[in-house]
Amino acid sequence: MRRAEAVRQIEVRPGDFVVDVGGGHRPFDRANLIVEKYPFEGGLHRTGAMRFPAAPVIKADACHLPIPDGGCDLIIASHLIEHLPQPDRFVTELKRCCGRVYLEFPSRLRELMLAWSFHEWLVEADGPVLKFYRNDLPQLFGPFFHREHDAALGAWSEVRHEQLNTSVYCRADELRCLFPTQTATEMLLGDSPRGRDKIDFVKTIHRPRYSLREVAAMLAQSMLPPGIYTAWSLKREATNSPAPLPDSIVARLMCLRCHSAALRNAGDKVVCKCGAEYRKDKGIFDFDVAHEFQVRGA
Ligand SMILES: [Zn+2]
Repeated sequence: MRRAEAVRQIEVRPGDFVVDVGGGHRPFDRANLIVEKYPFEGGLHRTGAMRFPAAPVIKADACHLPIPDGGCDLIIASHLIEHLPQPDRFVTELKRCCGRVYLEFPSRLRELMLAWSFHEWLVEADGPVLKFYRNDLPQLFGPFFHREHDAALGAWSEVRHEQLNTSVYCRADELRCLFPTQTATEMLLGDSPRGRDKIDFVKTIHRPRYSLREVAAMLAQSMLPPGIYTAWSLKREATNSPAPLPDSIVARLMCLRCHSAALRNAGDKVVCKCGAEYRKDKGIFDFDVAHEFQVRGA
């Protein structure tokens, strides 16, 4: 199963207000709003300037969402939670503001293969129960897979989406976070490779069916001269402008200072009746200001 098939299984009901948190590098196409802390860097993975999606983007922190209590129906957070220093705070925020959640994060197989040290946690899911193991996996390949993540590796990973990723789709109030005392390495060593949980790489990784587009990516990698392949494969600089933030979305947002939902679009800023202002920077309103308010209120 590819990612596109996995996300198609998420139930989006008519009239749902859907927010994608942290989807800057690859937003969910049915989101009404994208919340991204790093909109100009291509999201958490810093893939370069993002190609702005059709849905409006605001800049905000996942743990301080400018969304009122119960203010949205579905939150999608893909490859975000493993980065957060305090994922339980994000889960508390999810419970506060939405009904259903779709979370996606790397599986243990992916963390073992790619071993990205910038992930704070190895996350394991048992239904809606999330276990966060402190990520101390040895980085056998350094930043190799991150730097070399091109179209061919993308295609390779795409056909193995189900093995390389874990997804959780549930009611937000069902989510629970556990922080076992074991680190990721201790936990994986405890699951002996000779034991029942041994990963069968041949079964899980071998002989997928590639699409024509994926075959083209692999052929391009093996046949094109390196310079041409790199230019074709790597994401280009964003040349488009972010979508405007419609008043209908502004009306659904919450002021992070006074927590009222009385925000108004005043052109180059969104203003609240309490006097708080959220300025527009390069077409994107900046709601990543909770820290400022806390400092001011202290
Ligand atoms: Zn306010």
